[in-house]
Amino acid sequence: MNRRITIDGDLCQGTGECAALASQTVTFDPLGIAVVQPPGEVDENLADLLVRTCPSGAISAEST
Ligand code: SF4
Repeated sequence: MNRRITIDGDLCQGTGECAALASQTVTFDPLGIAVVQPPGEVDENLADLLVRTCPSGAISAEST
């Protein structure tokens, strides 16, 4: 099952762990803030890992 991830740009600190884990789904804007590439859906295990890994709690995941 997939989950759709979102990133709160106000919380993101640009540390890059998310892009290292999901380079197909996460890129960075010109200011170094992570942004999700549409449709932003990843495997649920990867979604959980992304949520747990983000040091600023900027990533959330919802069931699709
Ligand atoms: S891991 Fe979190 S703080 Fe780091 S770039 Fe990704 S969303 Fe931003």
